[in-house]
Amino acid sequence: MKNTVIIIGAGAAGLMAACTLSNAGKTVTVLEARNRTGGRIHTLSNTLFFKHTELGAEFVHGNLPVTFKLLKEAKINCRFANAEMWRYKNGNFEENSMIIEEWELLIKKLNGLQKDTNIYDFLQLEFPGDKYEELRDSVWKFVSGYDTADPLKASSFALRNEWQNELENAQHRVDGGYCSIINYLANECKAKSGKVLLNSVVKNIFWKKGYIKVACEDGAAYEAEQLLIAMPLGVLQASKQEKGAITFEPKIPAYSQAIQQMGFGAVIKILLEFTDAFWLDKKTEAIAGKDVNKMGYLFSDEEIPTWWTQVPDQSKVLTGWIGGPAAADKIAMPDAEILEQGLQSLANIFKRDINELKGMLIASRIINWTADPFSRGSYAYDTVEAPIARKLLNTPIENTIFFIGEYLYEGTAMGTVEAALTNGEEVAKKILN
Ligand SMILES: Cc1cc2nc3c(=O)[nH]c(=O)nc-3n(C[C@H](O)[C@H](O)[C@H](O)COP(=O)(O)OP(=O)(O)OC[C@H]3O[C@@H](n4cnc5c(N)ncnc54)[C@H](O)[C@@H]3O)c2cc1C
Repeated sequence: MKNTVIIIGAGAAGLMAACTLSNAGKTVTVLEARNRTGGRIHTLSNTLFFKHTELGAEFVHGNLPVTFKLLKEAKINCRFANAEMWRYKNGNFEENSMIIEEWELLIKKLNGLQKDTNIYDFLQLEFPGDKYEELRDSVWKFVSGYDTADPLKASSFALRNEWQNELENAQHRVDGGYCSIINYLANECKAKSGKVLLNSVVKNIFWKKGYIKVACEDGAAYEAEQLLIAMPLGVLQASKQEKGAITFEPKIPAYSQAIQQMGFGAVIKILLEFTDAFWLDKKTEAIAGKDVNKMGYLFSDEEIPTWWTQVPDQSKVLTGWIGGPAAADKIAMPDAEILEQGLQSLANIFKRDINELKGMLIASRIINWTADPFSRGSYAYDTVEAPIARKLLNTPIENTIFFIGEYLYEGTAMGTVEAALTNGEEVAKKILN
């Protein structure tokens, strides 16, 4: 039993902690519910799609220290992935378009805010009436699309902070896909005799100071001195009869309450591969009235509003994205219906018949991360209560139970793989000290 640690979840946070702890001589067992490692990192490697298509995390957003340190250590390269942001509005394609007009006024008013409130209430108060309808609508779309958050819950202070720290960062894609990082971490852990057990859905946790017993759905049980819970916030928020949810004996009510006070977004990612990159053809160029070659992202008001290409890589894949309350509303929608909505959105934007697009479609994949029982959403965002809740969740219970994951990270790269890796490493170091 001595020096034994159980980690629930083989995502970026869990594996980073596993690797750090096993390197330092701890006996680590990682229990993972799925039949694969990576969690919200899932690179597709079959031949149906453009190789290394990312079903989950795709970009390294900026010069992120822990990710780049790891890439260097693992000798994995990444490539530049910046692309122009376009907007499709009222039939027009606008390149490098500001998503939110009156941005400066918005920031000025946010800077004057003394007491935190959700962004929806803030906008109703500071930007009322018809005059600001478009501004309110744009902020709603931005918060739900980019942060995948519910504007009725998202903290104005946190968004103020995020928007003012938003640098013109270089974006990258990882060669071989984000899963190369995951495979590296899992292999390092196993090389130090760590175990990564797949298909192990944890259900109940029995604990006292210095002792943990974890029971899985299949009846298997594991014991250790310490436990790291590296599960997504969405699964921790699920009620106990739901798939993936865990219970504690004895209960930890203050922590359970803190978990409910944090925000977890919703997202659906849509991957479509076509016979031709019709978004680059002469017809599109004629509709847009300009060279469309560099169009990377396209934001629209369609049902599936956001689309991007693999620029600067050449490919015939388009990625669709819908986040926030609109994605949450589609939690029970069949994939076929979401696919239809995606194709109709593209047909409207590019002025094609939907049947023409269907004829060109080679492969499709709808990844409804909110409906997935082992993620139950996208990534965390701050509610008004989140800073205090996070502080508690970052406090270990009797040096025996530790929570880790992207939602517990305190820096500016919130909600990212960097956040998960950083938090996983920090908590592992805390245990070792
Ligand atoms: C569609 C999408 C796109 C994204 N794009 C980007 C991006 O471009 N760049 C970026 O940096 N970040 C992106 N992110 C966010 C990023 O993927 C996450 O922040 C990060 O991967 C989270 O890592 P984690 O280890 O905290 O959680 P996870 O990766 O979710 O790992 C948690 C693990 O716990 C397991 N688990 C759950 N319940 C149980 C149970 N009961 N028993 C055992 N195991 C369990 C899960 O199966 C999972 O493997 C994206 C996320 C999504 C969903």
